[in-house]
Amino acid sequence: MSKYTSLRGFKDILPDEIGRWRWAESIAHETFATFGFSQIRTPILETTELFTRSIGEATDIVEKEMYTFKDWDGKNVTLRPEGTAPVVRAYLEHHLGAQTPLWKLYYTGPMFRHERPQAGRLRQFHQIGAEVIGDIDPRQDVELLSLLTRFFERTQVTDLTLEINSLGCPVCRPDYRAALQAYFEKYLPELCDDCQRRFKTNPLRILDCKKEGCKAIAKNAPSPIDHLCAECREHFKAVREGLDQLAIPYEVQPHLVRGLDYYTKTAFEMTTRKLGAQNAVAAGGRYDGLIEALGGPPTPAIGFAVGMERLVQLIDPALVPASRLQLFLAPLGKAAGAALFPILLALRRKNIRSEMGSENVGLKSQMKRADRLGAEHVLIVGENEIAQGKAILRNMATKAQEEIPLSTLAETLSEKLS
Ligand code: ATP
Ligand code: MG
Repeated sequence: MSKYTSLRGFKDILPDEIGRWRWAESIAHETFATFGFSQIRTPILETTELFTRSIGEATDIVEKEMYTFKDWDGKNVTLRPEGTAPVVRAYLEHHLGAQTPLWKLYYTGPMFRHERPQAGRLRQFHQIGAEVIGDIDPRQDVELLSLLTRFFERTQVTDLTLEINSLGCPVCRPDYRAALQAYFEKYLPELCDDCQRRFKTNPLRILDCKKEGCKAIAKNAPSPIDHLCAECREHFKAVREGLDQLAIPYEVQPHLVRGLDYYTKTAFEMTTRKLGAQNAVAAGGRYDGLIEALGGPPTPAIGFAVGMERLVQLIDPALVPASRLQLFLAPLGKAAGAALFPILLALRRKNIRSEMGSENVGLKSQMKRADRLGAEHVLIVGENEIAQGKAILRNMATKAQEEIPLSTLAETLSEKLS
């Protein structure tokens, strides 16, 4: 092995796994199109301030997880830890809101967070995410959740639970925050160091602490649901009624919070019991204040992100159609190689997925490679076949063999295989 290895928390995605990735991605592209979304691609590198302003100073991501460095001109830049802030930045920069009031955008790509690597937690991971910008109507929440549900339905990942909550808004949040602090104050010495800090800076984050001690204390903490203002209460009710009407199953999880400060009103996660501690496969919520916070006009919005690594782990490999080679040409000896090479090129011009073995190695080793590529047929040409002007075509599934004249090889094969 070389002395070079990938960095901790950074992972290669090898050919054996790529089928599931591409299958999930193609289902995502189709599903998003079905729901009227357009794709957007933003850069991986952004100014640091975009994330500190949007995600929030007192969040794990901004406090300790961002890959931030100085560019050559001294500017602070950050590898994106999430996709929403860049999409909003692009939305404002290109005045998309002036073109039409409602935008439904989706993205896919790598995100970077300097977290402690463990099962299901990487430092470079991938997300597919959606953002609906420009509508406060609870129907948007329902529609987005129906998209998320439909997407997972199509990937045939089962045993998922949709958990929803409402986090309130700037009107009702201060009241809830005070109630939380009053509750946690009694347990302050028992909370972990991080949560003691969060108590002052961001008490909502205590509800998301993964430490057992803090989880036990948080169990009886007040829920934002009991502190919602009339508008937020109405909104949450309408979302639940909308889901009921569509028969989309969900559970209200009164302590669900999100790791990013910009969320308001509806917040949700799609969880599974199949992945151990890292049980969230997708997460999202409303962020009605973010666009204004980033310098735009007050614009309501809602979005989610699916964790691709966790999703791919849940996909049954048997569902993924294999990308198989149609034909493997196996020449034995120089003359056979010279005869088959132009045929290989002719077949590829007919879009037949084909590959050729090396004339210098034996049939056994060529057959091994044909197997590895999942070849449906193998064409064998040796000294004898050259002398007799024919080739042997073997169907790898049935093992049936037939002879084909060399003179009409290209035509016969492309007819047979296309
Ligand atoms: P978690 O609670 O698991 O840390 P999060 O609240 O940080 O998740 P989001 O930032 O909302 O998650 O990201 C949405 C989804 O992206 C998560 O539900 C998860 O599936 C995936 N995800 C987030 N961080 C990672 C990571 N470090 N490695 C792999 N997947 C991740
Ligand atoms: Mg996290």
